[in-house]
Amino acid sequence: MIVFRLICPDEHDFEGWFRSSADYDRQRKARRVLCPVCGSAKVKKGVMAPRINSGVAAEADRQQAASPGAAEVMGMLRDLRAHIEKHAENVGENLPEEARRIHYGEAKERPIYGQASADDRAELADEGIDVVAIPWVPRHDA
Ligand SMILES: [Zn+2]
Repeated sequence: MIVFRLICPDEHDFEGWFRSSADYDRQRKARRVLCPVCGSAKVKKGVMAPRINSGVAAEADRQQAASPGAAEVMGMLRDLRAHIEKHAENVGENLPEEARRIHYGEAKERPIYGQASADDRAELADEGIDVVAIPWVPRHDA
């Protein structure tokens, strides 16, 4: 399973669970991905942790079982969090700014993660900055 943070034109922010990225694309094209608040089918992916994600998301795709239980999903999300914390730099609330600096070549290209509001994420997406939102679950030891 893979989780996308999705956003509709009215900026309702919600999570969608899909078997894979391709499954999301298919369902979205068929207008079956609907905003739970207003019912709009014009949803797009929200964004959060830039740069790390094509790799990380691909990994999550490969690891997906036919239909993992909630505990397995939580385990995968914990592993994902650990992976990100190990390999990426936490820029916290500077995420949108730092993502732009990297995108426009003003800062060294590297994996980063942090927090971004729905507005920030929409703006980054409009600028073509490749970022993905993931659910940030508690750690194993939390
Ligand atoms: Zn909506």
